[in-house]
Amino acid sequence: MSLTVAIVGRPNVGKSTLFNRLVGKRLALVDDQPGVTRDLREGEGRLGDLRFTVIDTAGLEDATDDSLQGRMRRLTERAVDMADVCLFMIDARVGLTPTDEMFAEILRKRSKHVILAANKAEGNAADAGVLEAYNLGLGEPVRLSGEHGEGMTDLYAQLMPLADAADEQAEDDAPEIDITLDEDGEGETPQITAAKPLQVAVVGRPNAGKSTLINKIIGEDRLLTGPEAGITRDAISLRIDWADPDGDSTPMRIFDTAGMRKKAKVQEKLEKLSVSDGLRAVKFAEVVVVLLDAAIPFEQQDLRIADLAEREGRAVVVAVNKWDVEENKQEKLRELKEAFNRLLPQLRGAPLVTVSAKTGRGLERLRAAILRAHDVWNRRVPTAALNRWLTTMLEQHPPPAPQGRRIKLRYMTQAKTRPPGFVVMCSHPDKMPDSYTRYLVNGLREDFDMPGTPIRLTLRGQG
Ligand code: GDP
Ligand code: GDP
Repeated sequence: MSLTVAIVGRPNVGKSTLFNRLVGKRLALVDDQPGVTRDLREGEGRLGDLRFTVIDTAGLEDATDDSLQGRMRRLTERAVDMADVCLFMIDARVGLTPTDEMFAEILRKRSKHVILAANKAEGNAADAGVLEAYNLGLGEPVRLSGEHGEGMTDLYAQLMPLADAADEQAEDDAPEIDITLDEDGEGETPQITAAKPLQVAVVGRPNAGKSTLINKIIGEDRLLTGPEAGITRDAISLRIDWADPDGDSTPMRIFDTAGMRKKAKVQEKLEKLSVSDGLRAVKFAEVVVVLLDAAIPFEQQDLRIADLAEREGRAVVVAVNKWDVEENKQEKLRELKEAFNRLLPQLRGAPLVTVSAKTGRGLERLRAAILRAHDVWNRRVPTAALNRWLTTMLEQHPPPAPQGRRIKLRYMTQAKTRPPGFVVMCSHPDKMPDSYTRYLVNGLREDFDMPGTPIRLTLRGQG
């Protein structure tokens, strides 16, 4: 695992500004609108040649009342526990405040490693504040200006040895790939023994309930939700362990997206970023959960993103949310299945689960569907079994004979997984009608039990 850096400090010291600089503007937004950046956010940070994970601890409004103080404290403690190193930020223009002292106290107790940053340090108005920062007893402060990009070399120098140490550790922990041979001498599915988080993206139109769903999964309100569309706007990822009722947990990385928001003029800037964030989340993901609102299912945006996920070769799970308000559930489910098959034939067999993000009903089924989709997506069919299967398929329904010359399919193998991809060696691949290819793909899906994953089939001529 790469180095994880948490940026902590009281509101308004400039955490989000630095986060955006490290992660890149397109992953997170700072905006004047209240409520845009409020959560624990995580992104891939870059500084020179260093790569690390950055966690931002949110700009909760100035925490004057007790509940906000407490909340800020809890969020910070969480971030500290998740991180290898804390970048503790103070505002050098303001100087030390009692809240800064409170943070310093938490960090001294909990953090493995602290880098003290005196921010807004461009120009000499900040000199006094930088000197004051020594009083925290956390070592020499790094002079930074997140906004102007100053002090980045010093920050680099502090992070580099830590990043190197983390990389060395990661090499020691590298997953072992263990391939066992079965009786036919075929390689079985490689078992990756170290747990790598399963990458899941939750996508869907604004207000489908993505944030509510993710909150429910993580079991605490690290993301804020509300009736106004898209309070959480960033494609961000959260590392979670989603346990089943027996306590068996699977590490996952969940990408929350703002949703494929319809164009709204005022929100043009947010809009553009959000759409590309959604696309980006699909590219990162192994399994894409397309979240629909039961009241308005299969909207144009839903169809577009589901199609995109298929074309990108991702495993897809369709989840229909707000099932708690549905009155005639049986009738509705029948309608949904019909619409699904008609509108998304390319996702034939993909699981459709009904959930209520609000009450938590159906989440266990959703979890099982995600794991199963991921499993199918990774499936490897032994070559011997494939060729036995191919012989039967050819007997049952021989390939066509354009201009009197029968196309011969000689041999087949699975060339890749994630998603499963097969190669068939044959004569005249260019003459093969699509209908026959579809016959083979559908057969593979049925006979090897691979629902809901894109299956690629390539025909290759010989000689
Ligand atoms: P956060 O609440 O700690 O995440 O702080 P923000 O990143 O939202 O920044 C709070 C305010 O400080 C914004 O108005 C920023 O433009 C401003 N700010 C951030 N970094 C700097 C800096 O390096 N210099 C100056 N002068 N202002 C900054
Ligand atoms: P997002 O824009 O997709 O992140 O949607 P939100 O999670 O912010 O939810 C939008 C609205 O739908 C909020 O008012 C939620 O309370 C509501 N909502 C979300 N899930 C459910 C659900 O399962 N049932 C009901 N009745 N309402 C829900």
